[in-house]
Amino acid sequence: MIASGPVKPPVLAPCEVALMLDFDGTLVPYASETRLIPVIDPRLPGLLERLGKDTGGATVIVSGRGVNELQGLLGPIRLPILGTHGFEFRASPEAAIELESTASDTRDMLDGLDRLYTQSSAWAQKHRGISAERKALTVVVHFHDAPEMADLAYRFAREACDGNPGFALQAGRGVAEFRPANADKGSAIKRLMDKPPFSGRRPIFIGDDLADEAGFQVVNSLGGISIKVGPGESAAPFSLATSQDVLAYLGSISMQL
Ligand SMILES: [Mg+2]
Repeated sequence: MIASGPVKPPVLAPCEVALMLDFDGTLVPYASETRLIPVIDPRLPGLLERLGKDTGGATVIVSGRGVNELQGLLGPIRLPILGTHGFEFRASPEAAIELESTASDTRDMLDGLDRLYTQSSAWAQKHRGISAERKALTVVVHFHDAPEMADLAYRFAREACDGNPGFALQAGRGVAEFRPANADKGSAIKRLMDKPPFSGRRPIFIGDDLADEAGFQVVNSLGGISIKVGPGESAAPFSLATSQDVLAYLGSISMQL
């Protein structure tokens, strides 16, 4: 058998590409508790600002975090953001956040999230090392501190999800997350790629987690470049080892002017 190592992604010029970047574990090192504030490399804000300019505005953050939460982490850097796994859509920094949902559906969804949070916290209280977190538009069951509980946590989360239509279960590192069922990173990327300044460019999507796989598949189908950060099975043909390597790769794209 031929040993296959990581395959380095090609470096293209910023004028040719649409850059789609996951945040946690990709642009910043993965924090074992997603509620901890991630450590942002001092080079990152300047790099993102430069790439935003050099790609003609076609640089977007695609994250499980909410748009407002991410904007808080990014500070003054203004980029398009697809938040909450693509459920929140802010196609340009000036645009309002669009939801993949009507207002009355959104009310039902928030009620559903309240129910899921109540169920999840009650379950978490019975198990050491498990906690439940209510985010703006998702509910997260954390089991980072009790990895041996992963199977049990997923069994609970699958049953809770079955009892609450409209939600999908998103697996992640150390978490099971309930997200709105009508959005994922793949469909949000597809929608964005139809809009200027993204349309006509070659998408490059970089991500590290299971939630990114739907995005990798869409980007592959569009003839783009999908890049997985870290080890593990993936639909992405290219890989980078760490978020430091991601910054170096993005830096080399910005040098191609
Ligand atoms: Mg990530």
